[in-house]
Amino acid sequence: MTNQEFDLHHLWHPYTSLTRPLPCYQVERANGVYLELADGRRLIDGMSSWWACLHGYNVPELNAAATEQLEKMSHVMFGGLTHDPAIKLCRALGQVLPAGLDRFFLADSGSVSVEVALKMAIQYWHGRGTPKTRFATLSRGYHGDTFGAMSVCDPNGGMHSLYKGFLPEHIFVPTPQSPFDGELDPADLQALEVLLAEHHRELAALILEPVVQGAGGMRFYHPGYLRGARELCNRYDVLLIADEIATGFGRTGKLFACEWAGITPDIMCIGKALTGGYMTMAATITTQAVASTICNGPAGVLMHGPTFMANPLACAVALASLELLLASPWQQRIQAIEAQLRHELAPARALPKVHDVRVLGGIGVVEMKEPLNVAEVQKQLVELGVWIRPFGKLLYIMPPYIITPDELTKLTGAMKVIAGQ
Ligand code: PMP
Repeated sequence: MTNQEFDLHHLWHPYTSLTRPLPCYQVERANGVYLELADGRRLIDGMSSWWACLHGYNVPELNAAATEQLEKMSHVMFGGLTHDPAIKLCRALGQVLPAGLDRFFLADSGSVSVEVALKMAIQYWHGRGTPKTRFATLSRGYHGDTFGAMSVCDPNGGMHSLYKGFLPEHIFVPTPQSPFDGELDPADLQALEVLLAEHHRELAALILEPVVQGAGGMRFYHPGYLRGARELCNRYDVLLIADEIATGFGRTGKLFACEWAGITPDIMCIGKALTGGYMTMAATITTQAVASTICNGPAGVLMHGPTFMANPLACAVALASLELLLASPWQQRIQAIEAQLRHELAPARALPKVHDVRVLGGIGVVEMKEPLNVAEVQKQLVELGVWIRPFGKLLYIMPPYIITPDELTKLTGAMKVIAGQ
């Protein structure tokens, strides 16, 4: 059995079958915006490895931070011990997060940070003396693959029927229809208000992805909806959890998507680009008010504490990644990527099989009328020299911020080839 065959038959890849596996491409190394395959082909990366590698790959500053930390300690437990990498990272994050978010829980992955956010919300209501354990969430949302996170994902996209009986049932708010740069339709917020008015006594929090709904359909909605949701949560005494795992660190053109609405959520999740895509780490951040209510509650503590909490290696790289981002002209880069994406993807709108073309910040989406054949389209894209992973009806890119105009033209060109056939 070759290594490739072993991979096909023994290793699960995300959302795949081991009996009817899809082909995989073996990567040997990655550098800048290029992935180099084992057969020597070089592909321009359009995915940033699912929103994470915003500086590209093999980044000297991040390599240096990892190496330096490795020589001190790659890991120590966080129970009873602490360290500079965690402290410095959280202090630096506190400088750039929406005002008021300054109590940190460092978690192992995006999904785990969502679990922690849900736990924080539930424990908060215990602390208030009025326990509430249900959540409201936007339809078409995505928040991760663990059970708590999955329970607040879109029920169809998250295949809730598979886990019925085990998965808690929450309240699904109609997905906002008001487009990002159009008019805010009052009907969107009215629908949210109806549900909050009816259920607020049992709702611990509303959880949403601010402005960009990612894995649930790559939809961009109006910041006014987010502002309105913040006001309604205040009015109905329901916490607001913002999942910035995909949107954080500049991707939408603001450092955090909440800034489009000028709001501070009660709890925020960040992950993915937190470590520049070097290793897994996420964070759940809350306010002093929520943290003290939790800690004055019946448990007296926040009931979570994973083995690899605040892994020093991940913290050191995350700090270096944040410093590198803030020292870079990231706004200009995202603006330039956005302008180029708008210009180069616009012609795809006229193609007969294309349903919609949308761009926001460093995200470009071509939505087809029918689902794409992933294996076939993937093969063609690789032959065109690009790494773009289609998903359902969506052909979308969110390239590393360091991509050059010529490289980006190759990505949009490949998208138009696929969309036009
Ligand atoms: N929330 C959002 C908005 C995400 O996009 C993702 C990852 N696609 C997650 C949560 C889950 O993160 P992870 O895959 O690191 O568990």
